[in-house]
Amino acid sequence: MAAVRTVRPDPLGDRFDFHSHSFLSDGTTSATDMWNEARCLGHRVLALTDHLSLEDPAPLLRRLHQEARAWDGEPFVPLVGVELTKLPPRKIAAVARAARRLGAEIVLVHGETVAESVPAGTNRAALDSGLVDILAHPGLLTAEEAELAEKNSVVLEISARRGHALANGHVARRAEEAGALLVVDSDAHAPDQLVPGARARAIARGAGIAETGLRAVLEQTPKTILRRCRPS
Ligand SMILES: [Zn+2]
Ligand SMILES: [Zn+2]
Repeated sequence: MAAVRTVRPDPLGDRFDFHSHSFLSDGTTSATDMWNEARCLGHRVLALTDHLSLEDPAPLLRRLHQEARAWDGEPFVPLVGVELTKLPPRKIAAVARAARRLGAEIVLVHGETVAESVPAGTNRAALDSGLVDILAHPGLLTAEEAELAEKNSVVLEISARRGHALANGHVARRAEEAGALLVVDSDAHAPDQLVPGARARAIARGAGIAETGLRAVLEQTPKTILRRCRPS
């Protein structure tokens, strides 16, 4: 467990990150440790979105909520979520529904990354379900899939994670053509993989997003997602 450190405000404004993992799936440390580090980096939001397949989502969500409550009363927002990972595409909607019913504030789907094999049809099922907030690392998504993302208000992800990031340029271009929303997530599996604001900016620029488009990706869309997850 990392020692408690001082909070450093991010000079570039609030940082929002909707994708990370703890040792409740394949991360290296606890949700509390991840949230503490994010808070020290000056993040406004970090979602813990541990991998979920066909198992019961209840124990994972119960534990994440238990740890999230420790930050009650602070400006930092620890979101509780899941990343639906490598399940048969036809099961995605039902599992997303079950996770939401059991308290998931945000639902991601592990998209068809170029870095590993993911069941074909995963992107499509996630975009069709009406129950998914973010399609993570969607890889070589098609123009039709990008249009569906726009139509169904599913946010597409620019990923800081090695491997998944290889298709960031393609994802950004498809999203721009279709008018779909984008966000930059760390997909951190350890505290030192969290992405401060300056690095998120560089990753967005590296994906081909113009300087004029950065505010939408790094601030406006994240605020929209947050309002959806935590309606006030
Ligand atoms: Zn993933
Ligand atoms: Zn992930």
